[in-house]
Order: sequence, then C-alpha cells, then structure tokens
Amino acid sequence: MTLTLAIVGRPNVGKSTLFNRLVGKRLALVDDQPGVTRDLREGEARLGDLRFTVIDTAGLEEATDESLEGRMRKLTERAVDMADVCLFIVDARTGLAPADRVFAEILRRRASHVILAANKAEGAAADAGVIEAWELGLGEPLRISAEHGEGMTDLYAALMPFADAAEAKTAETAPVTDVAVDEDGEAPALPGNDKPLQVAVVGRPNAGKSTLINKILGEDRLLTGPEAGITRDAISLQIDWAGTPMRIFDTAGMRKKAKVQEKLEKMSVSDGLRAVKFAEVVVVLLDAAIPFEQQDLRIADLAEREGRAVVVAINKWDLEDEKSVKLKALREAFEHLLPQLRGAPLVTVSAKTGRGLDRLQAAILKAHDVWNRRVSTARLNRWLTGMVEAHPPPAPQGKRIKLRYMTQAKTRPPGFVVMCSHPEKMPESYNRYLVNGLREAFDMPGTPIRLTLRSQS
Ligand code: GDP
Ligand code: GDP
Repeated sequence: MTLTLAIVGRPNVGKSTLFNRLVGKRLALVDDQPGVTRDLREGEARLGDLRFTVIDTAGLEEATDESLEGRMRKLTERAVDMADVCLFIVDARTGLAPADRVFAEILRRRASHVILAANKAEGAAADAGVIEAWELGLGEPLRISAEHGEGMTDLYAALMPFADAAEAKTAETAPVTDVAVDEDGEAPALPGNDKPLQVAVVGRPNAGKSTLINKILGEDRLLTGPEAGITRDAISLQIDWAGTPMRIFDTAGMRKKAKVQEKLEKMSVSDGLRAVKFAEVVVVLLDAAIPFEQQDLRIADLAEREGRAVVVAINKWDLEDEKSVKLKALREAFEHLLPQLRGAPLVTVSAKTGRGLDRLQAAILKAHDVWNRRVSTARLNRWLTGMVEAHPPPAPQGKRIKLRYMTQAKTRPPGFVVMCSHPEKMPESYNRYLVNGLREAFDMPGTPIRLTLRSQS
C-alpha cells in the first residue's frame, strides 16, 4: 500500500500545476480549458525517491446548480477520506480568502494529517501571504512554487515520515499468516466526526504492551480466540474502547511472539518511532519495577519533539506493595527526567488485571482534548500583558525586548506566535517562563507547547 496524498484548496491556488509537476505527465487539466468536466483525478507521483499516489481536487469551476461552496466541500471531503495525508494549498500572492478558512475547518475536523503549503511563493511579493497562512491554525506553511519547482525539498521532508510509514505498512501486512482482524485502510471510512482517536502504545519490550492491548480488546469483546491480539500482522487496530473509537498503532509488542527477543529489542525503537508519527496521543508504557530506562526516556522525548500528546502509564501495578511511596518517587523521577513533558498525566495500571484501564482511557481523552485546545487571541493578549508586567523581558544592550501581540497559530499541539522586537535576543529562560505560564493559565498540562517569536517586519 502506498501513501495517498490529496491536494486540496480553493480554485486557482495552483493545485493542478503542482499535480502536474509531481506526476510528470499532463494528466490533470489546467485552467486554459474552462468548462471541461473535472473531478477527482489520480496519478502516480514522484518526488525524489518517494513514490506515492496523488489526488487532485481541481474540479470546482464547473457550472452546476449547486453552490460552489457546496461542491467544494463535497469534493474535498471525498478526497480527504481517500487520503492518508492532505496537502492544503493557499495562494501566497492573493493572501487568504474566506474559502481558505472553510477548507481549514473541514481539514481540521476531518483529516488526520495536514501539510499546509503557501504556493506562488517565488519572490518577495509572497512574504506577507506566507505569514498570513499561519492564521489558519494548521502549523507552519511550507513555502512553495509549483510553477517554478521551488520548495520541493521541504515538501519532500514533510511527506517523508508518512511515506516511510506507508511503506512499512506494505512490508508488515504482506505476509499475512493469521487472520487479520483489521487490515488498516481496508475498513470502510468512518464519517468525519467519528474519526478514531489515534493512539500509539510504546515502551520497552516486556513492559506489557501486548497484554494491555489485548485486555482493552478483550473487555470489549471485539475479538475471539485464544491468541487474538498477539498473532496479527496488521500495523494498527481499530477498536471501540468504552464507546470511543480509537485506532491503536502497532509497536513491537503487538507483533508475533515467535520473533526472537533480540530482534524485538532492536526493532522496538524504530517501530516506536513510526507509531509515534501516526499517533495523536502516545501512551508511554513503563514497567513499575524498572521505570524510566534510557529507552523509555528516548521515546517519550521523541513523542514530545514530534508534538504528540503524551500519557505515561505505569504498568504491573498489581506487583507493587508500597504503592503511595512508589507513586511519589515515580512522579519525582518523571518531573526530573522529562521536564519537557511537565504535567503529563501519570496513570498506574495493571494490564493483567485490568485495573486502572478506565483511568487510562480518561487520561487519553483528556490529553487529546488539551492537545486540541484553542485559546482566543483576546484572552492570550490579556494574559501576555499580565505576564510582561509581572516579569518584563530583559533589555540586552539597554534596549528592552518588546512583546507586542500574540496569537495561537495552531493546535495539535498548541502553537503560539508572539510578535516582538529582537526575537533573536530573547533568552531561552524567558521562553520557558511564557510556556510554563501558558500551561498553567490555560490548563494545558502534558501537551507539547510550541512558542515562536517573530519580529514584525
Ligand atoms: P487550481 O485551480 O488550484 O488547480 O490552479 P491551477 O494549477 O490551475 O493554477 C492556477 C493559476 O496559477 C495558473 O495560471 C497557474 O499557472 C498559476 N500558478 C500555479 N502555480 C504557480 C506558482 O507557483 N507561481 C505562480 N506565479 N503562478 C502559479
Ligand atoms: P510487551 O513486550 O511490551 O508486549 O510485553 P508483554 O505484554 O508481552 O508482557 C511481558 C510480560 O509481562 C508478560 O509475561 C506479561 O504476562 C507480563 N505482564 C504484562 N502486564 C502485566 C501486569 O499488569 N501485571 C503483571 N504482574 N504482569 C504483567
């Protein structure tokens, strides 16, 4: 199974131009042939050594009875449901149009992965448009020119993790020796709003990942058979966990037990990485007897750097005696070893007995919620004023750094942009002061928070 990328965006932003560049043949029609019926169009794309399927949605200017917005919406939704990743194109020359915001909303609700690109960005005339694209709340826009082939390296880099994963999926699902309960991607697409919450359970071998996943599955009676859960090759499982649809991503622990332990050891980090890239929430599963090993820390740190919500679950709690003493020590170790995940929920569970799984589920939902949180610009700026009054930024060489304005540029995880003078002179400690303050003031524990300082030029 190869990666499928949908190119979406309002008419004339350059979708077909990019499609043609990626596909290399004039498969999609461009705007010099008005009135030609167009709909979703598929081609085999190449970008460097990546091969993927690309869907073009440039079919919007046909005249029918339906409103443009209605057609645009339908077509986009169809493409989004077909794709693993959506490339959302805006026009950096014209700047944002109302339709762009409609798209952003559809994508936010419906797509699991969105890459935002500001096209026609060759030359300085596009600068303002590229910055404006931040306002869509979909992260940092890639600066590209479909016509001139600029920014293709950045596009490559943005697609790379997904292509890796899609390839791995092919490799993993190819030799199906057991009945695969869920073949990822084969299941009928769910309606947009019920998109399953994507969860990765990661941790060292023997932490109890398979036991945990089986327990979750078993209790919902989705599977039967003595060995259900540990004998499948699918890379992910879609489940209904106490009423919440979730997709749980495979890591080494879910894989065939026949594989030698040594190999599992080696695989578990890279498999963990792959799962982390797909997930919204990462559950770092630790063995209470040997918590916070190097490998656990690495994967938790990676999850933070990848911008995922993190829940730490301490497993095998049934084996512990002095529970409250132990818990206190674990909390301290956690704060100390993973300060970047400050406030992330720590849940004790027993995968074996099922104790604590309800709390784990609640923590996953809460973490997901925090990760998606949006704070209004008005509240942010009131808060910023208070923070600056309480503790003004430094004045390097006698010139005080002025924080002028701030806005939340994205969610999943929350990302903020602060407009200020001399952003390059701001010490890291002041950044931390702001990030920790944001966490407290707007109740965003555990989620990575991105803070970008920009000068207003
Ligand atoms: P679509 O409706 O989104 O598929 O847009 P098209 O691909 O048909 O492009 C619309 C117009 O924008 C065409 O005239 C393209 O030549 C032009 N265009 C596309 N990409 C670029 C670009 O990178 N730079 C500039 N300046 N124009 C572009
Ligand atoms: P994985 O490699 O992370 O998938 O770990 P497994 O699920 O295979 O579990 C490793 C071992 O730990 C197995 O012997 C499990 O029975 C045991 N185990 C897993 N969870 C628990 C638990 O909550 N309590 C106890 N006592 N043992 C557990």
